[in-house]
Amino acid sequence: MTGEPVLDIRGLSVDYGLGEDAVHAVRDVDLTLHRGEVLGLAGESGSGKSTLAYGMLRLLPPPGVIRSGQVTYRPRDGEPIDLMSLSRSRLRRFRWAEVSIVFQGAMNSLNPVHMVVTQLTDVIAAHEPRTTAAARKARAVELLNLVGINADRLTSYPHQLSGGMRQRVMIAMALALEPRVVVMDEPTTALDVVMQRQILRQLVELRERIGFSVLFITHDLSLLVEFSDRIAIMYGGRIVESAPAAELYRSSLHPYSDGLLHSFPALRGPRRELTGIPGSPPDLRAMPTGCAFHPRCPKAFDPCAERSPVSEEPAGHGGSDRSVACWLHSAHEPAERVTT
Ligand code: ATP
Ligand code: SF4
Repeated sequence: MTGEPVLDIRGLSVDYGLGEDAVHAVRDVDLTLHRGEVLGLAGESGSGKSTLAYGMLRLLPPPGVIRSGQVTYRPRDGEPIDLMSLSRSRLRRFRWAEVSIVFQGAMNSLNPVHMVVTQLTDVIAAHEPRTTAAARKARAVELLNLVGINADRLTSYPHQLSGGMRQRVMIAMALALEPRVVVMDEPTTALDVVMQRQILRQLVELRERIGFSVLFITHDLSLLVEFSDRIAIMYGGRIVESAPAAELYRSSLHPYSDGLLHSFPALRGPRRELTGIPGSPPDLRAMPTGCAFHPRCPKAFDPCAERSPVSEEPAGHGGSDRSVACWLHSAHEPAERVTT
């Protein structure tokens, strides 16, 4: 179901701080989001998911710095845009209009003293100042309807809405300018499980109707298995596996993905043992040598503590749109590879 690439990340590395004290939070990441696709980004807390999303949009708070990499956005028409060299003012226009983002805990960032209608029409007015007030209001009604909220809520204040409704309003705001890409960073974690799934189901349905792409970030892999087309798994700042969601669920290749999948009950098919992942995520200031997962990996073998596997098409899965960084699935002998 996926179309051409919309957002292409190549070799992105992001640090917090400078020099010897820098924390390398994102390390040499390649990732492509295709048109109309829901791409899920999963990994334990601290694996670098948010840093990757904010880094690619140059929204990093200090002391975050982009060390290297390229991010290319392909608009509906016109030449590809290099986000790393866009001027600050063009970048501001670009966000919301082309790529919008729903932050962690965004539902609490609605302005408590303004009605829903004001907050929605303000976004439209800021980017499309030539629209009339009546047109902006009509659009606000349309946006609320899109996310399943009745127009009579337009005059509500945030405290008069449930958490689920506030989150829907945030999603409506993110869709206000018909962006091609919506980035969602743990948008539903503050909600109960039923509400989370309801909102995600609606989002996927909207994506099919309106045709935007979604980069969905969560530590909850079970949500991604249900709602995304493709999943990328992060560990210690790197993407360690990426695959179509159904394939990852059926046969994950990286032992870390396996551990994440065995941290929640099976969604379908036979029951499986919940084993979780022993140990804790790596300290980014003192990363293990070789494969960063080796101290926790039940399948670690000879090369793992010394040589770092690079992301590649897994042996035996040619042409399958999968990649994995693990010596178990490398088509190369460890001795042939460069240590990083
Ligand atoms: P979570 O799900 O908890 O948000 P995450 O996978 O999104 O986790 P990030 O928030 O991107 O991870 O953090 C990646 C790493 O960068 C973490 O180890 C974190 O400690 C570090 N980090 C994040 N912000 C800063 C900062 N302002 N200064 C220094 N280190 C930071
Ligand atoms: Fe485990 Fe080795 Fe694969 Fe790393 S490279 S995940 S340690 S088997």
